[in-house]
Amino acid sequence: MNTLTKPLALVTGASRGIGAAIAQELALNGYHVLINYISNEAKAHEVARAIETAGGSSELLRFDVSNEAEVTQAFEQIAKKGAPLQVLVNNAGISEDGLILRLKKESLDRTLQTNLVSAVLCAKEAAKLMMKSRNGSIIQISSVVGEMGNAGQVSYSAAKAGMIGMTKSLARELSSRNIRVNAVTPGYIQTDMTDALTETQKSAITQNIPLGYLGTPQDIAHVVTFLAGPKGRYITGQVIGVNGGLYI
Ligand code: NAP
Repeated sequence: MNTLTKPLALVTGASRGIGAAIAQELALNGYHVLINYISNEAKAHEVARAIETAGGSSELLRFDVSNEAEVTQAFEQIAKKGAPLQVLVNNAGISEDGLILRLKKESLDRTLQTNLVSAVLCAKEAAKLMMKSRNGSIIQISSVVGEMGNAGQVSYSAAKAGMIGMTKSLARELSSRNIRVNAVTPGYIQTDMTDALTETQKSAITQNIPLGYLGTPQDIAHVVTFLAGPKGRYITGQVIGVNGGLYI
């Protein structure tokens, strides 16, 4: 058995973008971070190296969040680490955009499975561990489109709105065990996901953001770290928008 002294924080989809920034910020704040990813091992190693350079500690934990057997196995490994799991950030996600008339059932299933079902499965396993230590914080990375909708993103926004519902129910279910559950809803953030947008799409989006610019992964990481730690101790069941005013 490992003898870790730091509490553990699992960040799903931490090899890139928002998840990578959250992993780095949590490591700076004293957690031993478990960096989850699905295929991009080289990028996950880069995140671990950046954490080490900054004086933090982490390790890679590959599993497919949408696969129940892999999720269960991953949490069995976490349970053996010898330190309590204090933070779960359900960040891994995909978006497959398109108008409803062209929507394929397989794409709908994949989007719901990877964004929403995965978050419920991970939260269930995390809750088992956190209930024992009566201490935990579970944070969903939902999206502003789960709050306001967006043409061409029916399945993605349904998944992200589902994450908000699950957050509120879980917060009610787990608060008596001192486990807090919150959701963060990013607006448009500069990552691989938004790099897929054309310049015309990006400039149309920016015009609708009152602050006038896209956010950075660090903007999300700071809020998540606040919610995860003791400064957020009286916050549960909340949806925190980090969107430059896009949705007010
Ligand atoms: P991203 O750059 O596309 O990165 C996605 C991450 O999820 C990667 O680490 C990827 O791993 C991982 N991943 C994907 N499928 C997975 C699976 N089945 N199992 C495990 N890991 C998986 O995404 P991002 O832009 O940082 O977004 C992060 C989260 O924020 C997502 O949930 C997204 O919906 C949400 N969000 C983003 C924005 C935005 O503007 N970017 C806005 C609102 C909400 P690999 O590297 O191994 O592929």
